[in-house]
Amino acid sequence: MPNRDWSHLLDIPAFPAERYAMLADRLAHVMGTKNDVLLIQAEAVVALEAVATSLARPGLCALNIVTSPYGTWFGHWLQRGGADVINLSAEQGHPITVQAVQAQLDANPDIAALALVHAESASGILNPLEEIVALAKSRGILTIVDAVASIGGHPLDVDGLGIDIAVIGPQKSLSGPAGLSAISVSSKAWTLLDHSTATRTSILSLMDQREQWLDTGRGTIPGTPAPLEFFALQSALDRIEAEGMDNVLRRHDLAKRATRAGLVALGAQLWAQEPSASALVTTAVLPPDIDRDAFLSRRTIAGADITAGVGPGTERLVRLNHTGQRANEESVLANLTAFSRALEAAGQTVDLDQALHAAVQSYRS
Ligand SMILES: *Cc1c(COP(=O)(O)O)cnc(C)c1O
Repeated sequence: MPNRDWSHLLDIPAFPAERYAMLADRLAHVMGTKNDVLLIQAEAVVALEAVATSLARPGLCALNIVTSPYGTWFGHWLQRGGADVINLSAEQGHPITVQAVQAQLDANPDIAALALVHAESASGILNPLEEIVALAKSRGILTIVDAVASIGGHPLDVDGLGIDIAVIGPQKSLSGPAGLSAISVSSKAWTLLDHSTATRTSILSLMDQREQWLDTGRGTIPGTPAPLEFFALQSALDRIEAEGMDNVLRRHDLAKRATRAGLVALGAQLWAQEPSASALVTTAVLPPDIDRDAFLSRRTIAGADITAGVGPGTERLVRLNHTGQRANEESVLANLTAFSRALEAAGQTVDLDQALHAAVQSYRS
């Protein structure tokens, strides 16, 4: 960024105290919940660690579903707090199946909490959230959902599904700041969080948050608030509300369909299959004779964003990013153009015109 002047970010006034509760309410609306929503002054990984740290205690049996490194970390934090954790890993790079979850629940009647990620930007998969949450609810099990990537990209109806704890961040599909995050907490979740060995006097303590923010009438948040982040969140929400959540979701769905149509026209192999394909990134499997690093080094054209998959099982995957403000036709076409040129440079025969036509057709239909 040549010589951009960032000095206007200095000397920011305090974020008005009465607006924190409004931000929490607006986020609650986006998440589809009337549960308490806590604002966390840190990126969403910290919010996830706070949830695991606050819930974990000896004697708590949790089923932790692992479909990316985020799930691995969550299991580790639960274990660190003394919980009895059953990690259920999907086949690498794939979504979890409802059958696998059901088998674990049948075999382990002590399970009291279940955690999973909704959509994975690491591999471009979507987990069967609705079915798994319904299954857990039918057995009275507390549900924890990492919806950081999915919020805004996939419908998330926290109260409709009955999700007890949902963690979101504004920095992915909502195109907001990365320095804060939010957690919705049901009354059932509070009863599990309020245990005798609950972590206290800690940035990771949800019970502290309840006492210091909810119970004091939701004025200014505990600690020193970072005004830049909160003004940015307010602007991101203004933009989302002006566009309308349905339109934001539609924009991601269209970008997914068009990207997939274009990749198919290029002869590429799609990784995630419907209905388990994420609307945030589309992943393609590179042909065996193409070196991924060389491919990625040739991908750069203006407006394109193509990166390597993240985590085990994604070694042959590349991701075409259409998250947030990138969920639009121009970015989709730029990604397809870059992908096609990189294939061509690797010696493959491609028909870019046909791919772009397929993507544009997908937008028009
Ligand atoms: C991005 C993401 C997070 C949070 O990561 P940050 O480091 O806050 O960006 C958590 N879970 C999932 C599934 C994510 O995609």
